[in-house]
Amino acid sequence: CPLANRIPDWLQAVARGDTAGAAAILAETSALPEVCGTLCPQHRLCEGACTRDGTREGLKNGAVTIGALEKWVGAAALDLPLPARAQPNGKRVAVIGAGPAGLACAERLVREGVAVAVYDRNATAGGLLATGVPPFKLDKDRLARRIERLKAMGVKLELGVTVDAERFGELLDAHDAVFLGTGAQRSRPAQLHGSTLTGVHDALDYLAAVNAGTASPLTGNRVLVLGGGDSAMDCARSVRRLGAAVSVATRGDFRASPKEIEAAREEGVELLAQHVPRSLLGSAAVEGVRFDSPGTSRDLPADRVILALGQVPAPPAWLAAHGVMLDESGRIVVDGQGRTTHPKLYAGGDNTRGPDLVVTAM
Ligand code: SF4
Repeated sequence: CPLANRIPDWLQAVARGDTAGAAAILAETSALPEVCGTLCPQHRLCEGACTRDGTREGLKNGAVTIGALEKWVGAAALDLPLPARAQPNGKRVAVIGAGPAGLACAERLVREGVAVAVYDRNATAGGLLATGVPPFKLDKDRLARRIERLKAMGVKLELGVTVDAERFGELLDAHDAVFLGTGAQRSRPAQLHGSTLTGVHDALDYLAAVNAGTASPLTGNRVLVLGGGDSAMDCARSVRRLGAAVSVATRGDFRASPKEIEAAREEGVELLAQHVPRSLLGSAAVEGVRFDSPGTSRDLPADRVILALGQVPAPPAWLAAHGVMLDESGRIVVDGQGRTTHPKLYAGGDNTRGPDLVVTAM
């Protein structure tokens, strides 16, 4: 577990029927257990590492369903009293970005007695949990309750606020430290002829519309999603729910979690591996995609195309003025403790690692 959750300990508490005890153990290491229990690719993390995973002699009955149990304990914990907090210690920290990294950081700090204010340009807290993960995959009411609990613990949320160079300077002056949890929310450029045609959508924009309830019905439409990761599956499954026939095409093999691939397949999504997109077809509106697939070239028709080709970090331009070092791919350089090259600035999550999992951001 990237969070070092004490898995055997809280599982034993669950087995004893001690839900509050299990929740308390989980709360030592995780700010969002029900989210991780839902979204983590457990097959390559905790459950993949379980000693009952079937590879050891005499233990061939499979891993414990850690994710499902964690989701359940996390949900039950929303009804329990708030965790203990230290007395205020006079320190003040601003957190920029209310996604998993920012919220996890704020939760740790407020429990240590630090006064924390979290800034986010969106009107809703949660980052991609709110705008990127489709509602059928993550219980948004529970997410809202979790965020309410953070507020009740003393985390101040400043939502709908864009932190520009001037405001950043003010925050830096007014706080003992600033944490940058700005994520990696810029889509990787498509570099495909025709990607500006009408009917071509960016995956993050599309998922934001799905979450806002503004994505239009697609009954009778044919949609192609380009990409092979979890976001591509999220788009495809969303589009299915809006009534379209949908295919997902990726240039190599699918990178998405097996559980996401299986869910997409069960819902009738066509999966096309080894399909290298060459260009989008159409004059004003998109009409299809030309692919190279092994030994041949094929055109597939589409009324809409969604580009889910991954994300890249997009750190604010004004960071450079404060001497914050970035690496060649635009990630903020930090040491093992999350310190940037500026003494008051810390960073964590996708802006330092590149696009990764919710659990690693936390
Ligand atoms: Fe497994 Fe994720 Fe929970 Fe860690 S946080 S125990 S990896 S489900």
